Amino acid sequence: MQMYRPIALALAAAATLVGTSAALAQDKVLNLYSARHYQTDEAMYAEFTRSTGIKINRVDADDAGIVARLRAEGAASPADVVLLVDAARMAAADSQGLFQPIKSAKLDAAIPANLRAAATADGVTWTGFSTRARVIVYDPLRVKAEDVANYEQLADPKLKGLVCTRSGSHPYNLSLFATVVERIGDEKGEAWLKGIVANMARAPKGGDTDQIKAVASGECGVAVTNSYYAARLLKSDKAEDKAVMEKVRVVFPNQGTSGTHVNIAGAAVAKHAKNRENAIAFMEFLASPFAQEYFANGNNEFAAAKGVKVDNPALRAMGSDDFKAEQVPLAAVAKNLTKVQQMLDRVGYK
Ligand code: FE
Repeated sequence: MQMYRPIALALAAAATLVGTSAALAQDKVLNLYSARHYQTDEAMYAEFTRSTGIKINRVDADDAGIVARLRAEGAASPADVVLLVDAARMAAADSQGLFQPIKSAKLDAAIPANLRAAATADGVTWTGFSTRARVIVYDPLRVKAEDVANYEQLADPKLKGLVCTRSGSHPYNLSLFATVVERIGDEKGEAWLKGIVANMARAPKGGDTDQIKAVASGECGVAVTNSYYAARLLKSDKAEDKAVMEKVRVVFPNQGTSGTHVNIAGAAVAKHAKNRENAIAFMEFLASPFAQEYFANGNNEFAAAKGVKVDNPALRAMGSDDFKAEQVPLAAVAKNLTKVQQMLDRVGYK
């Protein structure tokens, strides 16, 4: 086709412009579905936008709300990155096909492999960006420190009538149980769960903070909680919260053996992400020392990235300095989730 040269040039220029603006539209936005809502996260997101020019549109909901929304939206979902809390929730969403695998040399280098989904030929779906320890709290007037040094001892008849936990089916417990089962095997794992049920001071109820308070009030002798709940009470301005923490002791379990169970708050690229490159850039940003500090401090957590340490006086006061963390890959949570739930049903762990 013959064209006058100026017209051809103008058409080419127009095509370039259209191409560029389409690329720009894609380049400048990230749709984030987040189950984390901390004030400090705002500053972190602002820095991402400042350094990349990518604007973040955020949808805030709780974990279940985000998963329900992703399922309802299907392929039409605008979500690019999904932030959820706990490996069990990550694994459950992943098994529903809500994430897509990504390959990132930066993430591979920054985040320990045991804090991520199992790698396949296509890459990795979810990645942890902060960690929390699942610690034991106990009443020193009723329980000896040496009797609660390990998770395994929660099933010891010595603790009969003393143990309190939230529901066994809560993601925090499912994840802990899934890694214990991975470590000690199915048979011993189920016997352990049965032993915990036999030791309970009351039927499981409430959240982790309620367990700590129940130990302080004398209703329970031993309980299990995520570390940030204890840190929150320690940092609280309320006299009654301080009084609670004065009555209990915190143990990082299994220091002499396998290490304390750590879980994650993490992120994944949504299955139908329209801004995939931005999503990966955001995940890589979350692994940076700058973002790690905000991400961990927002909820009194530990950094997930290698070599990044975030100082938190409340966590330090609990004895968290250089505690030994369990090395069982959190991918084992995905593998054992259904099996553990069936075990809980069999042993009557509500
Ligand atoms: Fe929590």
